Amino acid sequence: MSWRDNLIKIEPYVAGEQPNKTDFIKLNANENPYPPAPGVLRAIEQFRGGSLKKYPDANAKPLADALAKRFGLQRENVFVGNGSDDVLALCFRAFFNSDMPVIYPDITYSFYPVWCEMLHIPFETIPVDDSFNINAADYKRPNGGVVIANPNAPTSIGRGLDFMREILDANPDSVVISDEAYVDFGGTSSVPLLKEYENLVVVQTFSKSRSMAGMRIGYAMGSAELIKALNDVKYSFNSYTMNRTSILLGTASIEDDVYFKETVEKIVNTREWFKAEMKKLGFTFPDSKANFLFASHPKVPAKEIFEAAREKDIYVRYFDKPRINNYLRITI
Ligand code: PMP
Repeated sequence: MSWRDNLIKIEPYVAGEQPNKTDFIKLNANENPYPPAPGVLRAIEQFRGGSLKKYPDANAKPLADALAKRFGLQRENVFVGNGSDDVLALCFRAFFNSDMPVIYPDITYSFYPVWCEMLHIPFETIPVDDSFNINAADYKRPNGGVVIANPNAPTSIGRGLDFMREILDANPDSVVISDEAYVDFGGTSSVPLLKEYENLVVVQTFSKSRSMAGMRIGYAMGSAELIKALNDVKYSFNSYTMNRTSILLGTASIEDDVYFKETVEKIVNTREWFKAEMKKLGFTFPDSKANFLFASHPKVPAKEIFEAAREKDIYVRYFDKPRINNYLRITI
């Protein structure tokens, strides 16, 4: 027996490649091409570095308050974390403690199985249909929790409230997570359902629609009981996940709704133009409600396009996985 036997054995999530050069086109991590809101940039300039000698507010109160106000919720219904990956990992730890499997689609965000493996959470994946649609009826089975990315990634398909309601109605005894990283680009948020379902948690991020992937801010919204469980886990790991700059700049972003709406609208318009251009080239893709297209070509294998584009310093995302290995995920 050596200390090596006691090391964690896990296959981690692999994020989109970050090329080590300056002149390239990066369409592989669904980042926003526009800068953060002007108020965010002003707040950085005015930030008093001396304040860093003190710990930040462990509750990230100004940011959580701003989010609560924006969504018409109470402070006790909002949890803020270090990117939605952090928030989702804490959700898995806080909500999925059953012996029954957590269920989610076979084609979805590939971080979910990593958290399940790491946290010893049993899980089962449910196949989407041949058009990548999730069938809500498939989620009417005993489980220890449900995770739905809506819009889904990497498929880009967004579903409405009837779909989420069907899943929630079938699962009163499980926590249902709606991972809404891409919802601002034309998806339907489940936030209005929070009033009706105290087992629903909605997770969103500043990384995509708010152009702040580099700042790492995510948040969860749900009943006071769910948010308390999240806080209990957080305070059992690390009290100060949100640093002073994240709290300040995140709050500045929320305060500028005009810029937020303009930026999102520009990306949606570009996406619709891109759909038309890609169709002309013969590509097929689900009707995206996100800031990316999930595209396939009938004649040219996706891997070939991925490699050829990379040669020209254009980085898109290719997943060498069953069912989706002839698709490219291309950020708008
Ligand atoms: N959920 C989904 C579905 C995503 O695609 C991503 C981005 N990789 C995230 C959550 C996490 O984003 P972030 O940690 O930047 O908030």
